[in-house]
Amino acid sequence: MAREIMLDTHCHIDEYPDPLAEVRSLDGTAVAAVAVTSTPRGFEALRRRLGSERRVRLALGVHPLRASTLNEADWRVFERCVIETSYVGEVGLDFSPEGRATRTAQERTFRRVLRTVAGRRQLLTVHSRGAERSVLDLLTESGVGPAVFHWYSGPLKVLDGLLEAGHYCSFNPAMVRSKKGQEIIRRVPRDHVLAETDGPFVKLGRRRATPSDVRIVYEYLSELWQEPVGTVVGVLFQNFTSLLSDPREKNNGLEGQARHLY
Ligand code: MN
Repeated sequence: MAREIMLDTHCHIDEYPDPLAEVRSLDGTAVAAVAVTSTPRGFEALRRRLGSERRVRLALGVHPLRASTLNEADWRVFERCVIETSYVGEVGLDFSPEGRATRTAQERTFRRVLRTVAGRRQLLTVHSRGAERSVLDLLTESGVGPAVFHWYSGPLKVLDGLLEAGHYCSFNPAMVRSKKGQEIIRRVPRDHVLAETDGPFVKLGRRRATPSDVRIVYEYLSELWQEPVGTVVGVLFQNFTSLLSDPREKNNGLEGQARHLY
């Protein structure tokens, strides 16, 4: 991935009718995507289909709303795959009405995910709906981070806490169009910002967002920061590589980064 690339760091390629076509549509554009998955087997299946596509990186996930369905065989897949990718997600907790009944299973699962990824250098994209404080606490407790809070929508106080702890936030087109989202965006320092679409779950009018719509976020940040879009692209790319490259390897510069990117 080159420096001028716009990155959608959280989308669900496997939820589109034709995942391969979705990824191929990015060829020749300025956009690349991190495709999150919801289960370890889902990751394996997507990797078989898209593993050699240049415009996508695949993230190994255990979605909180799927947490209670994992068996030991699934965990073995997780443990085997986690050493083969630099991207983990979607993981986390969801205490919204949809997830409330499985709260205990989710916490147990997220703890196990964090134990497994601890000490590894990865882009970790986390879901925290209605559970922002708990996600932050479990990250702290397990010594994992920095992580990327995707579509953060919780209290500003917890936002301040997660930023203080060194975590990042990824913003999507739905956030730039909502008052609360804008308030959150304004609060996050530039060196902790990433962009995402959460497509196809984010809707733009009547249509579902695709990774190319990440451009909307870059354009919004350009206006907010009073910087050219090209500058925003550079800043977010730098943020992305800083999550993937070990600071101890800083002297290796691009060499160190390239090893993680390809
Ligand atoms: Mn998502």
